[in-house]
Amino acid sequence: MTDTADASPKDFIRTRIADDVAAGRWGGRVVTRFPPEPNGHLHIGHAKSICLNFGVANEFGGVCNLRFDDTNPSAEDEAYVRSIAEDVRWLGFDWSDREFYASDYYERLYEYAVELIRRGKAYVCDLDAESIRTYRGTLTEPGKPSPWCERSIDENLDLFERMRAGEFDPGARVLRARIDMASSVLSMRDPVLYRIQKSTHHRTGDAWCIYPMYDFAHCLSDAIEGVTHSLCTLEFADHRPLYDWVLAELDIAEPPEQIEFARLNVSHTVMSKRSLRRLVEDGHVDGWDDPRMPTLAGLRRRGVPAAAVVKFCEGVGIAKRDNTVGLAQLEAAVRDELNRTADRYMAVLRPLKVVIENYPEGEVEELEAVNNPEDPAAGTRRVPFSRELYIERDDFMEDPPRKFFRLAPGREVRLRYAYFIRCTDVVRDAAGEIVELRCQYDPATKGGDAPDGRKVKATLHWVSAARSVATEVRLYAPLFEDVEPRVDPDNIGAGLSPASLETLADCRVEPALATVTPDAAVQFERLGYFCADPDGSPERPVFNRTVTLRDAWAKVRGRDGK
Ligand code: ATP
Ligand code: MG
Repeated sequence: MTDTADASPKDFIRTRIADDVAAGRWGGRVVTRFPPEPNGHLHIGHAKSICLNFGVANEFGGVCNLRFDDTNPSAEDEAYVRSIAEDVRWLGFDWSDREFYASDYYERLYEYAVELIRRGKAYVCDLDAESIRTYRGTLTEPGKPSPWCERSIDENLDLFERMRAGEFDPGARVLRARIDMASSVLSMRDPVLYRIQKSTHHRTGDAWCIYPMYDFAHCLSDAIEGVTHSLCTLEFADHRPLYDWVLAELDIAEPPEQIEFARLNVSHTVMSKRSLRRLVEDGHVDGWDDPRMPTLAGLRRRGVPAAAVVKFCEGVGIAKRDNTVGLAQLEAAVRDELNRTADRYMAVLRPLKVVIENYPEGEVEELEAVNNPEDPAAGTRRVPFSRELYIERDDFMEDPPRKFFRLAPGREVRLRYAYFIRCTDVVRDAAGEIVELRCQYDPATKGGDAPDGRKVKATLHWVSAARSVATEVRLYAPLFEDVEPRVDPDNIGAGLSPASLETLADCRVEPALATVTPDAAVQFERLGYFCADPDGSPERPVFNRTVTLRDAWAKVRGRDGK
């Protein structure tokens, strides 16, 4: 047992595991697994399961397997396998050589099914899917036995073998457990264990035309791998009697134990794979890794660090009841991480030209700027300053209200790392729109302080007009306006917020940002945390805003972070 296990456990699952270890169950071993079905990309809900399964294994000196639950060939694909593995690795977890596939167990699962038939605990049923449903009954009405449940063991063995041999069409026959059609638990009313499916499997090809159902494959895969604690989400609680039944009927020694915990739901988003797929397939987002998606690929492209996802999942904790966690909590974890790690730069999202009339034409000064005030080791860099600059359009007001302290006619402000400037005039275009500010700078204020001690009330970010790089910047808001969107996947467009993406095509960034790679998070001073998007190039970088500097998205969109 490790130190952490001795400390008081954080949640009911860790408490139970600590008790099991102390009692010497499973010889004190702890083996967990993360069991994704490779039929979609992982989302932040999966991250919670990953953090829990790998987390408890690490804490109790155990191991966690990555098991692909690949029992439905029509929905699964090798590309999903690769993306899932990449995402788990990105989160920082290592399954070493313990990468397993339910499909590796097909032969053994088949033998287990034959054994159940031999023990009189399973039968081949010829009812079609619709009739199976009708016979099953409801929560208030008991089911009635299938007309095929009394088949002899020999006949069942023969038919099951012929199902495997491909003699029957999909839907013609299934293998069912013989349990209790009057059970108060619906999943115990002779559940289907095997079905015929004639599609090519991404790993086993056409070797099989019968495939085990989740409830049969999962518990036995756990048993085959020596899993001790099979942690899953609450919707499987009703299936636990079946999980235990299969293992008991097959005399599995030291059977694994299923423990359920609450799913993670995050506000303003949907998490079901079906809904996420519709968002992609109906063109509402730009692929699975669209930075607005709650997928791990989307979060990564958005610039969310893996460490923030892990901290968020740990902060949410493990509960027994479903609830929804505010997006603000995720964003807080992201800010916390990026505040320490992201280098600061200057960028102007909505440029307004400033001409410093008393600054020599053609001259460029390289001024020293601090990369990260939170991290002295991050050092400094040089930012070019010149006669023509850009500042943020909304850092200037011609007729400012009382509380506006930024630039206005006649007023003096500080340009970050540079000089004090005073606005002397505004230039308009034919339509009357302000297109340029004329300013004077004070050479004595180099570095940002006045030797005579005079103060200014605002410090603005800026970039050199000639020595900045033109970029596109993408600002994001939540996909759904509702806190807990109740969506119909077939009409998913209905609940979507119309303004989840704002593209600013004419932004300017300081030259150092042209070569920043997508994995490096940066802060644009006063504007938020950003990362380079793979859509960009050094000639024309594209940036995604990861989060604003403060929790402001709910109130102001796009113009926050001040
Ligand atoms: P679907 O959305 O199609 O039901 P799924 O999200 O359950 O699929 P799986 O691949 O079966 O996808 O999930 C793998 C594991 O992740 C399962 O153990 C599941 O319980 C867990 N998981 C899935 N969604 C969440 C969530 N929102 N919170 C916590 N764990 C989750
Ligand atoms: Mg599932």
